This record gives sequence, structure tokens and C-alpha cells, in this order.
Amino acid sequence: MKTLLDKLYIENDLSERELALLLQNMDSESEKQLFEYSSMLKTKHYGKSVYMRGLIEFTNFCKQDCLYCGIRRSNSNAERYRLSKEEILRCCEEGHVLGYRTFVLQGGEDSHYDDSKIIDLIKLIKSNFPDSAVTLSIGEKSFESYKSYYDAGADRYLLRHETASKRLYEQLHPGMSFENRINCLKNLKKIGFQTGAGFMVGLPGQTNEDLAKDLVFLKEVKPEMVGIGPYIPHPNTPIGKNSGGSLEKTLIMLALARLLLPDVLLPSTTALGTIDPLGREKALNAGANVVMPNLSPTNMRKKYELYADKICTGDEAAHCRKCIEGRINRAGFEVDMSRGDHPSKQA
Ligand code: SF4
Repeated sequence: MKTLLDKLYIENDLSERELALLLQNMDSESEKQLFEYSSMLKTKHYGKSVYMRGLIEFTNFCKQDCLYCGIRRSNSNAERYRLSKEEILRCCEEGHVLGYRTFVLQGGEDSHYDDSKIIDLIKLIKSNFPDSAVTLSIGEKSFESYKSYYDAGADRYLLRHETASKRLYEQLHPGMSFENRINCLKNLKKIGFQTGAGFMVGLPGQTNEDLAKDLVFLKEVKPEMVGIGPYIPHPNTPIGKNSGGSLEKTLIMLALARLLLPDVLLPSTTALGTIDPLGREKALNAGANVVMPNLSPTNMRKKYELYADKICTGDEAAHCRKCIEGRINRAGFEVDMSRGDHPSKQA
């Protein structure tokens, strides 16, 4: 395995078959080597910096019915909420005072927030906080909608592909098409967004070959950001009784993503902190370099429960900022409050 790892480190590329083989035969020694390589590449491109993004979960209404998601439309137990424009701006204001220079607006696919409302929101945030980046994470839209958000000033868009296996994708996303998902990602790149793809680890029925496909897919699309998190079952979903993804496998996938796309922006996700108290720190050591503390109002946070037992739902924004900064420092890294654009998009 050492030869394959060395090849990956030097060439930043492996075939799908080689990646599957690597995953199949990963032992503790190879893991150690993998994390050394991924740390070295992260340090080469970003030093000790960890970028902070302020996350605002502004609506948990969603017209989609993804089988793993706690806010899927068929979950009648989900308590629905929407933040008003004023509430969203207040979250940005509070975040800006705390030093955040990226706001991530995340929500379900909620038709209440039509294009004109989203455009209005982007323009307001950009005019109130001109030194800040706006990231959207609001699902599948037409090329024209994406373009109108970009023209209004949005800088980045997150749309995880969730899995690059068409078979798994279509099992998990009733009424949605794998081709459309891929097309959306291609459109976002074409328009000029710093684009985030990404996937879940440990989905029911997911094989090492499927995960190798995810990595090859990343290499093909070349997203500026990659979100990789463990699948965590939510009890009020049709697949909620399955077991979830492991910390170890998720860390391996993060490290492999760093080796394939050395300068990618790679979040250490809250989901990792949920399955292991030190999951986020371990992700930073495996190659991640972004964290996304929550700026949403505390009384709404529990309601945005994509998966079970999500952490940090009761903490004020200022507390989150301090807590995560302490964790980052203790792990040997430094908080960077700048916009943190991808190197290819820096002015
Ligand atoms: S994963 Fe996203 S699109 Fe699917 S139900 Fe949940 S919020 Fe909606």
C-alpha cells in the first residue's frame, strides 16, 4: 500500500481501481502514512490556518424527501421554521462583530424563498458587509437561478453530490436524478462560483468501490471546497435504524481528498464532532482546514436537525466562536478570520 500512497502523494492522482484497492487494504501503518502526507500538503498550502465560516440555517422547510434527512418533507415530527430577512441580517451583524467574514446561508429546498427573495438577501448582506463573502447552500436550482445569485454578488455555493454512485444516489433521493445533481455542480462551476461538492461516508449499502468513485468524481469536477461527513442515522427517517459511518473511515476519506486536491478547502464538520468528542480536531489533523460555527438563533438550532444528536445546538454564537477557537489552538492550529477564498479565486 505504501507504493500506492507514495504515488498518490507525488502525483495527486490514482485510478478508481487503485483507490478502491487502497481503501480495501488500509491498515494502521498506511493510515499513519496517509495522515502524515495529508498534513504535509495542508501545511504546504495553508500553513497552520483554519478558516472560520459563520453558518446561518435559515429555513428547515424542504420539498425534497431524501431518505436519510431529518428535515425531509415527510417527517411530520420536524418542527418547521423560517428566519425572516431581518433575523438573518441580525445573525450576520452578530457574526461580523465576532470577526466572521464569510456567511453561509443554508436551508432546505424551500420555495417560499424564491429567487427574488434570495437575490434581495444576497444584495442586502453584500451591501451591509462588503468585506464578507456569501456562500449559499440551498440545493438544486436552474442555471438561470444560479446565475442570478452570482450576479447579485454570491461568491460560493455548496452542493454536496452526496454519493457518486448513481445506484445509491437514486435509492436515497426519491424523485431526484443523479444526472441533474451532476449538472447543477457543473453549472455552478461554469458560472464562476467557488463550488463545494462532497459526500457522506457509511451510507447503507455503500462499498469501498462507491467511495473510490466519490474520490474520482472530485478529481474530475475539481471543486474548490469538499464537504465530507459521516452518515448519521436520524430516527424519524425510513433508514434511521441503520448503523452510521465511522470516524476512522471519514478521516481516511478527508485525507484522501486532500491528497487528490491539495489546495482544496476542506471543512472539519459538526457531524464529526457529533460522533466523537474530538472528531473535529482529528479532522484538522487529517487535512481539514475549515470550520463552520453556527450563527443561527439558539432557539431554532435544534429544529435544523439533519441527523440525530447534533452538537452545539444550545450555544450562543460568541460561545461557539470561543469554544471552536480553543479547540483549534489546542490541536496546534490557528484561527484565520479572513474571507478564506480558494487560492485560485483570490484577488
Ligand atoms: S438532504 Fe437537503 S434536499 Fe434532502 S431533504 Fe434534507 S434538506 Fe432537503
